Amino acid sequence: MRIGILGAGQLAQMMAQAAPGLGLECGFLAPEADACAAPYGRHWQASFDDQEAVAELVEWADVITYESENVSLTLVESLSKQLPVYPPVAALQAARDRGEEKQLCRSLGVATADFALINSSSELPGALAKLGCPAILKTCREGYDGKGQVWLRSAEDLPAAVEQADATACVLEAVVPFQREISAIAARSIDGAVSCFSLSENIHREGILRLTINRRNDSQQQQAEQLIGRLMEQLNYVGVLALELFDVAGELRVNEIAPRVHNTGHWTPAGARHSQFEAHLLAVAGRSLPSLDWSNDCAMINIIGALPDQTAIDAITGASLHLYGKSPRPGRKLGHINLIFSPHQSPTQRLDELRKLLILVGEGEIADRLEASWL
Ligand code: AMP
Repeated sequence: MRIGILGAGQLAQMMAQAAPGLGLECGFLAPEADACAAPYGRHWQASFDDQEAVAELVEWADVITYESENVSLTLVESLSKQLPVYPPVAALQAARDRGEEKQLCRSLGVATADFALINSSSELPGALAKLGCPAILKTCREGYDGKGQVWLRSAEDLPAAVEQADATACVLEAVVPFQREISAIAARSIDGAVSCFSLSENIHREGILRLTINRRNDSQQQQAEQLIGRLMEQLNYVGVLALELFDVAGELRVNEIAPRVHNTGHWTPAGARHSQFEAHLLAVAGRSLPSLDWSNDCAMINIIGALPDQTAIDAITGASLHLYGKSPRPGRKLGHINLIFSPHQSPTQRLDELRKLLILVGEGEIADRLEASWL
């Protein structure tokens, strides 16, 4: 079976790497000449509105999926009239717009940060009075890794917020006093079966994910599964869905919905019986879901901006390096390291290994503040 993927970045690449083992084949539509997934399948190097390339993809593929919610909704809608497209259009529509996403959650009784929709800067003072300060103004569309966000802490931040609010539709969010950031990643098959990975606990710096660990038997697992199940059922979802969540004294609030495989699930090839990439492909291909049960405690460390010393990583037992084949550029995700912890290691030994890796990728600040009790 052939899976056409819109986009050809690292998420498409990792799906394509998982595909042959499942008897599946991937092809990509993406404009970049140096798309990192391209070596792993047929690549139509064309823009998303290139009619000829789209027609060829439709001819080639049995089913279409996508690696980003920032793909053209018009294209996905038009494709869905010609062949199956998963996750469904309704999921893409909700997840690509922070306003719609929050309203969907609200309609299902799923908690989020308190928020107000902002269509112009004139609505800012009233919304700020209601939500309080500090607050965060986020663009409804195209924001990721902390982009398109203005933190409003004092009057000095107002000009930037006014400019953003007048340029594009935004949501103003109250700052959530969370204890930790976690994510739930689940897959749903065409026949409606749902399976969820162990929760991921995530550490961000400057709005970008740096470190994730998987949590076996987390106390919030059941609550998170209920939330993700409710959303999946409402959307008649097929494929992998990720929910970024804030844990506020045991109560979960949704920060973001991603209708795709997710960076906080990159540990799954090392720490679960099957990976998120396998789960997504099997679901969209109409097959049954594999077991997503926990298999190892592990951590995933993002490599951002610069490539680390590979020999030093290889010297750490349990560490495996995964590079995407992208050229280094500040802020660019170039790869990740999965670190499998041995069941015989004490928390202090785990922390030692993790710290070494964090320092190798330039995350000394996070290494300094981690404590063994976290592991
Ligand atoms: P986002 O791009 O929405 O995923 O935000 C990036 C990061 O900013 C999140 O992982 C949080 O660390 C932080 N953040 C976003 N929204 C909020 C919020 N409402 N309250 C507190 N922190 C937030």
